[in-house]
Amino acid sequence: MSLFDNAIESIQIGVEDLLRNDDRRVLSAVRNVHAGALLLCKEKLRRLSPGDEILLAQRFEPQRNDKGDVSIEGVGRNTVGLEDIKKRFKTFDVAFDWKRFDGIAEIRHHMEHSYFKGTRERARQAVADAFMVIRQLLVEALKEDPLKVLGPECWNALLENADLFEAELQACRKTLDNVAWETDAAVRALPDFICPSCRSSLVRQREPGNSAQLDVVLLCAACGTETELGPVLTLAFDETFGGEAHIAIKDGGDPPISTCPECSEETYVIEESRCAACDFVVPTDATCAICGSGLSAEDYCEHDGLCGYHAYVAAKDD
Ligand SMILES: [Zn+2]
Ligand SMILES: [Zn+2]
Ligand SMILES: [Zn+2]
Repeated sequence: MSLFDNAIESIQIGVEDLLRNDDRRVLSAVRNVHAGALLLCKEKLRRLSPGDEILLAQRFEPQRNDKGDVSIEGVGRNTVGLEDIKKRFKTFDVAFDWKRFDGIAEIRHHMEHSYFKGTRERARQAVADAFMVIRQLLVEALKEDPLKVLGPECWNALLENADLFEAELQACRKTLDNVAWETDAAVRALPDFICPSCRSSLVRQREPGNSAQLDVVLLCAACGTETELGPVLTLAFDETFGGEAHIAIKDGGDPPISTCPECSEETYVIEESRCAACDFVVPTDATCAICGSGLSAEDYCEHDGLCGYHAYVAAKDD
């Protein structure tokens, strides 16, 4: 069986697993669609190879053949791993949503290593994500017709699942519509809300009518876990502001988010001088009593209204 046939079969089996009304098959569904998508990535590398499937080899080296010519040959038995697939896609300008692909892997990993109820919902999200990456791989990268190669039953099931998941996601998000968020940062991070215990995006507000941020209690529709806002925002901020934080640290600047001195979550928004999860605020006019420079959340809380330097000097004089 060819690599491509293998990929298609794996996706079809995964979709069959999901369609069975059997909770014992949901992990198998996620494993199969994930494996199928990965095989499609390899198929792209195979087709990019100049005839000898060399891009599927983990390592290749220049070799001299009988006639004394130099050629590049694959060495060893290992086939290309995920990190190298990513590098080769970049080298050959193959556009691909790696973030979404990695999300499927993360769900799979979580399902394999934890035990919780509601795994069908988790599988639904993984398969909905897989649908997006499979479509991108087939249509854009491989120039194949998904309906033709996967068959109408499989393709339509993927479409329906994606719609169903999207509808559930929108219903969950809607429960947060009434909340008057204290920070712009929280509003920006809303699309990145995930459950801290199972990583599902199906996070809803327990009381949809509530508008007070401090009273928000979140409930995961996938695993049933109830969570405070803090841990959810910490994870969401990491996703939303992770890139900016990385650049800021590289350039020697301030990261956009730091630890809140009051609730200890990674939810203190430096630009807005307040915590996005609790009611901790640093007054905008808070300055060091000695030198007048602006105070960080930590200075304000722990140094009694002095900047880090003058707090140190004061402590030494005591
Ligand atoms: Zn959950
Ligand atoms: Zn806080
Ligand atoms: Zn000072």
